[in-house]
Amino acid sequence: MRFAYDTRWKERQLLQEFPVEDEMYLEDMEEYDSNYTYPCRCGDEYTLTVTDVRLRYDYAACGSCSLCIRIIYPKNDPVELNQLANTNISDT
Ligand SMILES: [Zn+2]
Repeated sequence: MRFAYDTRWKERQLLQEFPVEDEMYLEDMEEYDSNYTYPCRCGDEYTLTVTDVRLRYDYAACGSCSLCIRIIYPKNDPVELNQLANTNISDT
């Protein structure tokens, strides 16, 4: 899975060249099965995985179009996120 991890960082670099559609607070996204999602206007959704959150990955891309949103993390991390950061991610 290391390849997937490297790919994700390349994606991140690419994403930063795209116009950012919107800014979204992490807490305003919908949590589903440890992932965070937010609907895109194209009908698909932006997704942040548990790994993205752990890495404080601040851009989320839509699965179907080239739009992305910037994620704003809380300044004072809630306990929940601290626990997340200490969780061993199985795909690393
Ligand atoms: Zn979209």
